[in-house]
Amino acid sequence: MLITNGKLVTWEEPNQILEGQALAISDGLIAEIGPQAGLLSRYPQDERLDAGGQYVMPGNICAHTHFYGAYARGLAIPGPAPKDFPEILEKLWWPLDRALRMDDVRASAEVMLVDAIKHGTTALIDHHASPNAIEGSLDAIAEVVDRSGVRAVLCYEVTDRNGMDGARAGISENLRFIQEQSRRGSARLGAMFGLHASLTVSDATLDICRDAIPPEVGFHIHAAEHEVDEYDSLAKSGMRVIDRLSRRGILGPRAIVAHAIHIDARESELLAESGTWVTHQPRSNMNNGVGVADVESLMRLGVPVCLGTDGFSHTMWEEWKTAYLLHKIWRRDPRRMNGMDVVAMAVHNNAALAGQFFPQGPLGVIQPGALADLIFVDYHPHTPLTPGNLPWHIIFGFHESMVTATIVAGRVLMRDRQLLTMDEEAVAAHARELAPGVWERYNAQF
Ligand SMILES: [Zn+2]
Repeated sequence: MLITNGKLVTWEEPNQILEGQALAISDGLIAEIGPQAGLLSRYPQDERLDAGGQYVMPGNICAHTHFYGAYARGLAIPGPAPKDFPEILEKLWWPLDRALRMDDVRASAEVMLVDAIKHGTTALIDHHASPNAIEGSLDAIAEVVDRSGVRAVLCYEVTDRNGMDGARAGISENLRFIQEQSRRGSARLGAMFGLHASLTVSDATLDICRDAIPPEVGFHIHAAEHEVDEYDSLAKSGMRVIDRLSRRGILGPRAIVAHAIHIDARESELLAESGTWVTHQPRSNMNNGVGVADVESLMRLGVPVCLGTDGFSHTMWEEWKTAYLLHKIWRRDPRRMNGMDVVAMAVHNNAALAGQFFPQGPLGVIQPGALADLIFVDYHPHTPLTPGNLPWHIIFGFHESMVTATIVAGRVLMRDRQLLTMDEEAVAAHARELAPGVWERYNAQF
């Protein structure tokens, strides 16, 4: 396939915006980039996709999400509003994930992947929980991922909060899916080993998981999202959360720690020394009122910080904007969280993290040999747009509704805003049919 008449944002370092160049895709990779006339004559038989002057960019990547959160939208929490994060877990997330059956798991993945494709998010790292439908849940999600055409990395959140049987079932589901994945070798699916959070896993469970995980696989865990995680860890082990995870062998260059808000200086160093990935979810953190991760300090220490949605809509530029604004008001200093810091997280670090799972070629850049995960953006700047000022055009001017085409591994998933692999109306209608049952089972727990 040939993409013509686009302005190509390469997101290389340094960034380039190429005009008058076409892009040839073959076998899911960017085969060649060059002057349009030359490529048109060299690839006369190739299907052509005319970008019509739009920006053509690498697809957005989400470093941490929860597809199963789809049924939270519009849900009324009974009784007084939760006053803090532990109450949000107890009154919202835990009864909601216990209400999910396998059909609901599948439907929530469908809803979230429609949302991702529409909004130009082409790769996602999911963290799944459905305590009453554990075995096979990752396969159910993988089937939807496969059908949708996006890239995704999946895992199951192991926790002790549903008893030892629940913990064991979560461990088995991770291991089963990891083995299945390495046997199946799908180019668009990856596997991690999920752990819910430090506060819901005992040392014994952590040790079982560490002993069971294959060496090439990493853990994906929430940590220090709220101070309760630190106090729980101190009470359980006498150590702060990251010290405890370090001691138990959970950290490392393949592991993801989501949030890392309430950590101290030594914990930050441990994350840096171990090469652990940290994900930042500013919309979720603001919504839960849990605080702000000191992302700038973590990045100065060399921690690779990435950007995720935590189950919010997969509108990554919304997350960019929130990160950009949040750190300014938090520090009461408009110089904080420079646009390039947001790019470091959302573009370069997200691509490096997700790229570990898809080694067929570089991810998140437009260059020969890179994975052909691309979006078209219908944006008409009224001031000069350059490779250097693009971050500020994105933060102040771009919107996910401007995404008109989404391509993953060279396959067009959305063209002229028409979804080609998923039927949005049918997906939403099916999810709405299941929603009353989910909400009824949720409400029955109060
Ligand atoms: Zn999360």
